[in-house]
Amino acid sequence: MSTVVITGGSRGIGRAAVELFAGKGYQVFFLYEKNDPAAENVARRTGATPIRCDVADSAAVKAAFRRIGDVDILICNAGICFYGLMQSMPEADWDRIFAVNVKGIYNCVNAALPSFLRKQRGSIVTVSSMWGRVGSSCEAAYSATKGAVIALTKALAKELGPSGIRVNCVAPGVILTDMCAQVDPETMEELARETPLGRNGRPEDVAKAMEYLAEAEFVTGHVLNVDGGFAI
Ligand code: NAP
Repeated sequence: MSTVVITGGSRGIGRAAVELFAGKGYQVFFLYEKNDPAAENVARRTGATPIRCDVADSAAVKAAFRRIGDVDILICNAGICFYGLMQSMPEADWDRIFAVNVKGIYNCVNAALPSFLRKQRGSIVTVSSMWGRVGSSCEAAYSATKGAVIALTKALAKELGPSGIRVNCVAPGVILTDMCAQVDPETMEELARETPLGRNGRPEDVAKAMEYLAEAEFVTGHVLNVDGGFAI
């Protein structure tokens, strides 16, 4: 049975990915930061194994992957956002968003790599955002981290391809999760109207794209937009 590790699997997009991969018969481990009840709920419903672990904490990530053992697919989904003008963003928040959204991937990929290299086979899916491609006002730090995720994905695809390891990325648009909960309903409706496909995305829309990239044997270095055409 193949093993998939999904970071940020307790809620939103990550939860949909846990449900999808567990439903397909994968052995699923998921990391989450602090929301124990949400994680326990997902674990109960899917049979996946939850591990409480801050992806920004390299020692904790190493310990989590030691516990997991052999890995076939890694989905680096955990992420946080910050909304506001850059000049009013506290430095600690700037550091934290990079620590989670970018260094978190460094930590998880490095922890999974020995397993991939041993088998000369592996698949990594990272999660960017359409804002990482085109930039968003009042989300400068978030956009910068998600742009970094795209560059990291392409660089790693070149670096790890010769070792049989594929690295791809999904770039979601507006997806209905807790991350959008602070956006007022009128703005959410406006965003749906601005989307060529006429609606905001669901976590399952992104999970399907993750599934494709995780399994597509001759695809690497690809950034797959899952945004209903919002940022073509
Ligand atoms: P969400 O609903 O806020 O869920 C975030 C998940 O990440 C939770 O499981 C959370 O765990 C976990 N997490 C957060 N910080 C973590 C940390 N330091 N270590 C481990 N786990 C951590 O977010 P989402 O909307 O599903 O977003 C998932 C990914 O998609 C993110 O990378 C986000 O940037 C990206 N994305 C989202 C949208 C959107 O519109 N929603 C659009 C584009 C891209 P707890 O439950 O313990 O807090």
